[in-house]
Amino acid sequence: MQIGERIPRIRAAGSDGWEIVYRARALVAAGEAVLNLTIGEPDRTTDPRVLTAMHEAAMAGLTGYTFGPGLPDLRRAIAARVTRRTGVETRPENVIVTPGGQAALFAAHMVLLSPGDTGLYVTPHYPTYPTTILATGADAAPVAASAEDGFQPRASALLDAQARTGARSLLINTPNNPTGVVYTADTVAQIAGACREADLWLISDEVYDTQIWEGTHHTPRALPGMVERTIIIGSMSKSHAMTGSRLGWLIAPEEVVQAATVLATNTTYGVVPYIQKGALAALELGAEFEDEIAAPFRRRRAIVQAAVADSPRVTTAPAAGAMYVMLDIRATGLSGETFARRLIEEERIAVMPGESFGAAAAGHLRVALTLPDEDLKEALRRIVAFAEALPGV
Ligand code: PMP
Repeated sequence: MQIGERIPRIRAAGSDGWEIVYRARALVAAGEAVLNLTIGEPDRTTDPRVLTAMHEAAMAGLTGYTFGPGLPDLRRAIAARVTRRTGVETRPENVIVTPGGQAALFAAHMVLLSPGDTGLYVTPHYPTYPTTILATGADAAPVAASAEDGFQPRASALLDAQARTGARSLLINTPNNPTGVVYTADTVAQIAGACREADLWLISDEVYDTQIWEGTHHTPRALPGMVERTIIIGSMSKSHAMTGSRLGWLIAPEEVVQAATVLATNTTYGVVPYIQKGALAALELGAEFEDEIAAPFRRRRAIVQAAVADSPRVTTAPAAGAMYVMLDIRATGLSGETFARRLIEEERIAVMPGESFGAAAAGHLRVALTLPDEDLKEALRRIVAFAEALPGV
């Protein structure tokens, strides 16, 4: 018996960046110490106040099916939060709660694309972007943001890609995983302009919007003519250290929310109700709590920048947000893949090769800011020493 062609198509397009992750795991299992900078997961567990709210909700009987787009009070809270943070009037009817940002990304593309359509995504990219688009039966086409442009996408590249492919949608991500770059107001205006000109749906993944170290987070949904064509992807995973709870959302025009609700009815049946109550409690902890979760990443980003400041071989992309810094190691003459492979074998330090986020990140390494400060300092000191001991170009 043969499985259908959809999953093999996704698998073939999947990244092999996992090689380093698996190698690190195998070394640890064999009893070796590895400084692991690969994983984008907060190094703290979910706050006890949030867990208590989940427990109390479950004990009070919220253990049944939820159906539909989410509990009314959580949808209200998310809508109010989006309105407050972006200045764009957002109603509960514009919100669907999903099992993580991941499910919101899938739902958005399922709703907007038909088989045979093309969805664009900006690269360097979060590895599941092209595969999420492919999973809908559409084709996925990258639009490169170059290191020379500080990984800011340009309208001309977007319009060229749209003209070449006839794409219906564009997926962007700011603050960005893997680069740590935050799109400038000019970049967001260029993206919005390109979407209006080429009549594109815009899917804006803003799951790192509470992690801004420099400048401001700009959402394209707030620009003229964008509210009706923009879908925002949100998540509690990174902002509230709730990765395992699988709680995200999609903000969109009502018709899109209704369509995504039909999809949910046929896939997840909605999100666990006591988890939704936990999310509500987490949101009620306010901005102070979000700052507390973000603080270690802010500190560690400064640690990385200080560690490479005097290095002729290692520099950083302009890391203004998210829990990652992209190291530019092109001056060593090694690819990101070779560098990362040698680093795990010779130094027992695991980083993601830039190439696993697309060719536009070749010659780079992604460092996740998820190790304790002292370990991160030690890892960076050794990465820089390793780069400087190489023969170079
Ligand atoms: N978007 C980006 C850019 C991410 O990095 C991640 C998780 N690493 C997600 C979406 C999905 O996260 P979750 O499903 O946990 O909300």
